[in-house]
Amino acid sequence: MITLKNDDPEVWRAIQDEIERQKNTIDLIASENTCSIAVQEAQGSSMTNKYAEGYAGRRWYAGCGNVDTVERLAVERAKQIFGAEHANVQPHAGSQANMAVCFSVLKPGDRMLGMDLSHGGHLTHGFKKNFSGMMYEITHYGVKKDTGYIDYDELRNIALKTKPHIIIAGASAYPRILDFPRFRKIADEVGAYFMADIAHIAGLIAGGAHPSPVPYADFVTTTTHKTLRGPRGGLILCKSKYAKKIDSVVFPGIQGGPFMHVIAAKAVAFKEAMTEEFKQCQHQTVKNARAMAQEFVKRGYNIVSGGTDNHLFLIDLRNKGITGKEAQLSLEAADIILNRNTIPFDEMGASANEPNGIRIGTPTITSRGMKEADAVKIADCIDKILSQPHDMQTKEAVRKTIRDLCSQYPLYKENACQTSK
Ligand code: PLP
Repeated sequence: MITLKNDDPEVWRAIQDEIERQKNTIDLIASENTCSIAVQEAQGSSMTNKYAEGYAGRRWYAGCGNVDTVERLAVERAKQIFGAEHANVQPHAGSQANMAVCFSVLKPGDRMLGMDLSHGGHLTHGFKKNFSGMMYEITHYGVKKDTGYIDYDELRNIALKTKPHIIIAGASAYPRILDFPRFRKIADEVGAYFMADIAHIAGLIAGGAHPSPVPYADFVTTTTHKTLRGPRGGLILCKSKYAKKIDSVVFPGIQGGPFMHVIAAKAVAFKEAMTEEFKQCQHQTVKNARAMAQEFVKRGYNIVSGGTDNHLFLIDLRNKGITGKEAQLSLEAADIILNRNTIPFDEMGASANEPNGIRIGTPTITSRGMKEADAVKIADCIDKILSQPHDMQTKEAVRKTIRDLCSQYPLYKENACQTSK
């Protein structure tokens, strides 16, 4: 970044510091990952300069031949990975993908049934300060208090009672397999559209580590930057019969010019997602999450639902005398990066900002090449900090272990789980 260094040393410095931070800390944020240098090169390319309102072959502006090439590649690869009839690769992010689906089939005031935010759902599934909660009549389903698994009987009862126009499956903090055929069945019973938001688990699905909703859902939305390991962005998959409607809602409905540099990077990530190495990485991500969750169970921690089937799990800290925020801050001071999170039925939580849980995800450590033994080592580090959050010696000892792990598994290296070529 020689030119940037000369032209804008302040921004250059911040970027260098961020690269160092990512290299030297353990990232357990379940919604993050480390995309390849190839993805980053495409995203940092001159395609950012191009206006390309419309779709490949049907643009408003001249000079769109090259961006048409990358958009066609991205669309074809997305369809191939997920076995979908139609793909729209233009949504700027996951929220825009969800908004596009809502605008394509719902009118203001229509009814939406989505997962409760405090049970793992996302803001776009009906939170009152989100467009979804403002525009639609919302009801929520959640998990069972005794098991932490989605209560499908309750979901069905709510659906029968409220007759939603759309049912949304998908979550930001749910550690178990989603039963897509069951969602479809309930949607059919009440005549609702069925949308699966696979933002968190798209990579697992692409890699065969989680069942796919594509055969069952009318619409599948996702981000491209979480387990899918691409650039920050969104994607919509749907049946051909909805293609025209979805495309016209994305543009000109809710967006203007697509981010062609990001679409180029999506195309690169989608190519990577077809490799054997990517598939193995997704299975390893689940193995690492399981190994870590089991280690916490052994050490007397309460894990929501008792474990995990995917890339993340939630620790309920209510028996540990530390809040989620205190845990997040003390772990950050020891170079372990994760986020506080609500846990279901948290009556003790002072507010959504003071939840009593933390969320742990394994996509990034797995992309670095870490395996189960490393995951267990990280669990040991976390346990040490949470047991003595104010002890300086513990903090320094853990930081050293984290430094060693980070240098053993560089962020970008050949033969790591993550492709750097
Ligand atoms: N859907 C789910 C389930 C998510 O977890 C997220 C992001 O965390 C989104 C949608 C929205 O994605 P974005 O932040 O790209 O708008």
